[in-house]
Amino acid sequence: MQYLSTRGNMAPARFREVLLEGLAPDGGLVVPSRYPRVTSVLARWRPLSYADLAREVLWLYADDYEPSALTRLVRATYTPAIFGSQSITPVVEIEPGMHLLQLSNGPTLAFKDIAMQLLGSLFEEELAHRGENLNILGATSGDTGSAAEVALRGRPRVRVFMLSPLGRMSAFQRAQMYSLQDANIFNLAIEGSFDDCQDLVKAIGSDLAFKRRHRLGAVNSINWARIVAQVVYYFRGYFAVTADESQEVDFCVPSGNFGNVLAGWIARQMGLPIGRLVVATNENDVLDEFFRSGRYRVRPGAQTHATSSPSMDISKASNFERFIFDIVGRDPAALRELWWQVDTQGSFELKDTPFWSAVVASGFASGRSFHADRLATIRRQYEHDRRILDPHTADGVKVAREHRRAGIPMVCLETALPAKFAETIREAIGRDPERPAAFRDIEQLPQRYEQLAADPERLRQFLQAHAL
Ligand SMILES: *Cc1c(COP(=O)(O)O)cnc(C)c1O
Repeated sequence: MQYLSTRGNMAPARFREVLLEGLAPDGGLVVPSRYPRVTSVLARWRPLSYADLAREVLWLYADDYEPSALTRLVRATYTPAIFGSQSITPVVEIEPGMHLLQLSNGPTLAFKDIAMQLLGSLFEEELAHRGENLNILGATSGDTGSAAEVALRGRPRVRVFMLSPLGRMSAFQRAQMYSLQDANIFNLAIEGSFDDCQDLVKAIGSDLAFKRRHRLGAVNSINWARIVAQVVYYFRGYFAVTADESQEVDFCVPSGNFGNVLAGWIARQMGLPIGRLVVATNENDVLDEFFRSGRYRVRPGAQTHATSSPSMDISKASNFERFIFDIVGRDPAALRELWWQVDTQGSFELKDTPFWSAVVASGFASGRSFHADRLATIRRQYEHDRRILDPHTADGVKVAREHRRAGIPMVCLETALPAKFAETIREAIGRDPERPAAFRDIEQLPQRYEQLAADPERLRQFLQAHAL
C-alpha cells in the first residue's frame, strides 16, 4: 500500500514512513492510494476475535510489517486487561433496533483509547527500529490528550506536548491529564479555544525546518494510523447486529474533528454494507450545515461555543479534507482549490457543483443536538433502563432517533463514559454517574501544567527548551 497527500505534492510512501507524521509535507493529509475491497472476505472475518480482525484490517494498509509483528502488536493491545472485556467493543440494544457500540472501556474512558493504545505500541516499535526519538505535539479538546498521554507515558524515546484549551474541559478530564506526573508528559493549557490549540499545532507543523530540527510528530486525529485502527470497530459493530452480509446497517457518530466517522466512511468504501452514516454535531454545527446545505463554513475559534459535549466543540473538522478528497474524485487540484477558498473566504460551497451528487451518494446524513436535547436524551434513557449515556453519546442517540429507517439496525457509537462528565449528568438526572474505582478522588491529586498564551512564538520557545 502506498500513501499520497490530499494536496498532491508528496512522494508515495509506505505505512511505516507516514506512521509518525501528522500533516503531509505539502500541508495536506496522508491518504492511502486506494481502499481495498473486502466484500468477499466479510464472512471469514465475522467470527474473528477483535485482535485478529484488527490484524486483517491493518494488514491491508500496513503491508510493510511482517504479519507476525502485526499479530503480536494487536494481540498485546486488544486484551480484556486493557479494554475490560473479551469482545473489546461490546454492543447492547438500547431500544428495539437501536444499538450502542461501546467504545469507551479503555484506560481513559473514551473511544480514543482504541486507536491510541495501538499507536503507543506502534510508535515505540518504530522508534526503536529507527534508533530515533520523537516529540509529540498535539491539541486536545479533552479526550485525545489523556488517551495519548496514558498510551505514551513513561515510554522511552518519546516526549508528549499536549495543548488543551484552558478552562474548557470538565474537572475530571483536567484531572486525568494534569495529574500525570511522568517526566515525559508536558501539559500546556492554552489561553483560547480548542481551535486555537489546533491552529498552533498546524502553525508549528507547517514550519518544516522547525519540525525536523525538533523531531516533531503528531498523534491528533489527523494521524493516519489512528483512523485505520478505528475502521476495525465498524466491522465489529456490523457483525454484532447482523446474521449475514446481505443486511444493511446504519451508524450514527457524534462528531467533531470527523476522525471517528471518517473511519466509518472508509469501512463503507471497503465494501462493508453500511447504509447511512449519520453525523451528529452539538451546537457547533459546521458538519451538519455542510451535509444539509452543501456549504462548508468554518468559524473562527472565538465563535466556537463552549458546550456540555465539549469534545465536539470544534469548528474546523481537520479530517474532513480526507472525505472531500474522495468526493472530488481524488483530484488534488480540485481539493487545493476548495481549501484555498476556506483559507481566503472561510468557506466553500458544493451544492451547485458536479461534486454534490457524490456527497448525496456517500450515504452521509446529519443532525444536531443542543444542551436541552442532550439532557432530555440522558433522562429518557435513564428512565427507560437506568443506563446513563455520556453527553456526546446522547447527542448521537438523539440524532440517530431522527434518522431511524424501518427494518435497518441503527448502531450508535458510544464515545465516552458518563463518569468523565458528571456535571452534565447531575443536571440531567440529579445523581452522579458511577465512577470506575481507579478514578475515585482523581480531582484531588496534585496537577502539573503550564499556562501559555495562544501564540506560536511562545510555543516554539517552550518546545525548544523541553524537546528531546
Ligand atoms: C473526540 C471525541 C468526539 C469527536 O470525535 P471526532 O473523531 O473528533 O469526530 C466525540 N465524543 C467524544 C467523547 C470524544 O472524545
